[in-house]
Amino acid sequence: MSNIVAIVGRPNVGKSTLFNRLLERREAIVDSTAGVTRDRHYGKSDWNGVDFTVIDTGGYDVGTDDIFEQEIRKQVQLAVDEATSIIFMVNVEEGLTDTDQEIFELLRKSNKPVYLVVNKVDSSKEELPATEFYQLGVEKYFTLSSATGSGTGELLDQVVSDFPTTDYKDPFEGLPKITIAGRPNVGKSTLTNALLDVERNIVTDIAGTTRDSIQTLYNKFGHEFVLVDTAGMRRKSKVNEDLEFYSVMRSIRSIEYSDVVIIMVDATLGWESQDMNIFGLAQKNRKGIVILVNKWDLVEKETNTMRDFEAAIKHKIGQFNDVPILFVSALTKQRILKAVEVAMQVYEDRKKKIKTSKLNEVMLPIFEGTPPPAIKGKYIKIKYCVQLPTPSPQFVFFCNLPQYVKEPYKRFTENQLRKEFGFTGVPIEVYFRQK
Ligand code: GDP
Ligand code: GDP
Repeated sequence: MSNIVAIVGRPNVGKSTLFNRLLERREAIVDSTAGVTRDRHYGKSDWNGVDFTVIDTGGYDVGTDDIFEQEIRKQVQLAVDEATSIIFMVNVEEGLTDTDQEIFELLRKSNKPVYLVVNKVDSSKEELPATEFYQLGVEKYFTLSSATGSGTGELLDQVVSDFPTTDYKDPFEGLPKITIAGRPNVGKSTLTNALLDVERNIVTDIAGTTRDSIQTLYNKFGHEFVLVDTAGMRRKSKVNEDLEFYSVMRSIRSIEYSDVVIIMVDATLGWESQDMNIFGLAQKNRKGIVILVNKWDLVEKETNTMRDFEAAIKHKIGQFNDVPILFVSALTKQRILKAVEVAMQVYEDRKKKIKTSKLNEVMLPIFEGTPPPAIKGKYIKIKYCVQLPTPSPQFVFFCNLPQYVKEPYKRFTENQLRKEFGFTGVPIEVYFRQK
């Protein structure tokens, strides 16, 4: 289940340095997008084989002093609302400040585990000054050098071993889980209400968290699935909902918990960087994806409007663009049943398993016809392939020289798999291994 570790602290204590270090081996989910000064906010990491999501809550520039206080409060509130555990970072160079004390007071009131981390302890020289932080009344703190990474092991051992273990029983085990994600005001609630004329909400506790989530059973027109929604998405929260960052944060858990993510965009606004963030989040979590361009009723249409709109989105989402894009109106209910059908198809495709015999029969001749380019006179021979028994499609191709199979050929392989077996809306992983 998804454990979320939030890093909280004043500006410049070293939060993003630690964040980047934790994500080192894995790519951050949010890549450079225009208009956001510091844009790497959250990503996946793991320690001792335990996966978790890291949030750098300081991802937004705090700006001037007068809004400083308010921003810090938001940051803390976000951490308290969303995180499983909180790393509270302070800076040994500056020593204990009033703001540190205030933040710590707020955090202490939450019932989440809080780890006091004294950063910039780059050598034993700083160990003694670090003792100043005992004034916060803690029994233990961790010393760290985010810059060199020393101390991270001890900290993470503790954080990960404290993750809650749950004997959570999913009341909807085995049913498709779908999340409707998107920026504020794109029409998520309108769509939800259009689909569920009679709401049958069951509030459950998504494993590993105290925060409740709403799961609503949909069972109509021959389809049965569960709409997953973290409580914050439909209730107005204490944190300003208009901030894109927070609204994306709120979707994390719903997305991780789902099989398919319906990404809604506003036709009058088009595909923007925030939509890309949600797309990236779904893709990196290997979830099925359907894009709904909503409020289509408001768009003045000419012959190619739909086609052009679709092409523009496909261009922007980049390499993985074999994704269904539908034009809907949640308000007039135009094509919303079609959207449900397509989402269910993506769900089926995501769990589809290709028989090994069939896979080899289809793929080996393709590889023979178009083998990987020889490198330094060495020929690469792909001998055998299997699909792994994973929740989303992953394929392993066994060959003599896997290190010589480069990115373009991996993409070629993925495209062939899509063409032959149909995985629209489903992220695919392709691995080449030594036989
Ligand atoms: P944030 O504002 O809390 O995210 O802080 P940053 O991660 O941006 O770091 C602020 C500054 O502190 C940068 O110049 C970092 O290079 C520096 N810094 C971060 N961690 C360490 C550390 O462990 N030791 C030292 N000496 N500098 C650090
Ligand atoms: P959410 O914040 O994503 O849940 O968005 P809402 O469902 O609350 O919708 C925001 C606004 O957009 C409301 O005023 C809706 O009535 C309006 N809206 C939603 N879907 C449509 C649509 O398909 N067409 C039009 N014209 N308006 C819509």
